[in-house]
Amino acid sequence: VTFADLGVAEPLCRALAANNYTNPTPIQAQAIPALLEGRDLLGLAQTGTGKTAAFALPILQILAAANEKRQPKEARALILAPTRELAVQISQSIESYGKNFKLRHTVIFGGVNQFRQVKAMTAGVDIVVATPGRLLDLMNQKHVNLSRTSLLVLDEADRMLDMGFIRDVRKIIAAMPRQRQSLLFSATMPSSIQHLADEILREPVRVEV
Ligand code: AMP
Repeated sequence: VTFADLGVAEPLCRALAANNYTNPTPIQAQAIPALLEGRDLLGLAQTGTGKTAAFALPILQILAAANEKRQPKEARALILAPTRELAVQISQSIESYGKNFKLRHTVIFGGVNQFRQVKAMTAGVDIVVATPGRLLDLMNQKHVNLSRTSLLVLDEADRMLDMGFIRDVRKIIAAMPRQRQSLLFSATMPSSIQHLADEILREPVRVEV
């Protein structure tokens, strides 16, 4: 199986070839076609399985296809991650895979001055990668508006729960449209994560690697 077989568009395939990705990993092979069809997804996967590309590639492709003339200020996709390190890594992957597209993205995390993050959001981005606490701060200050953000990824949801972010995550999701495509990735599936998945996913495809 190749990325093209999964429905991945040519500009993305070129970027992947430049990264020496020759074949999709199992989670990519299972997730990408379903996500390109607009399905919700529950992914049971550890780091190292290629889960970042499994969600980043379809998101880039979906947004690029809908990006013809529209350049709204509001972000169209939100990726939530538990830590600054993971958020930065995801952002770097998006930069690398999306280099042949004109999509704008930024990363938001706590522990640093918010000035640059506010500036990026004010200028307008298509994709936001964020940790929950700082994102909620910026939402409360009206620097971030998720009312048109209809693509959501929760990455490492079990770690977000362990770190006490679940209340923030719920508040963030409540500010998003109900009509959206949602993805939840977790290495483990305790009942609290299953409840969250039941709440936010609609007839998800379940992928386990
Ligand atoms: P992740 O699980 O998303 O953190 O990815 C783990 C590592 O695998 C990262 O260094 C990726 O760059 C790499 N990777 C992801 N997908 C592929 C692929 N299809 N072929 C080769 N390497 C990949």
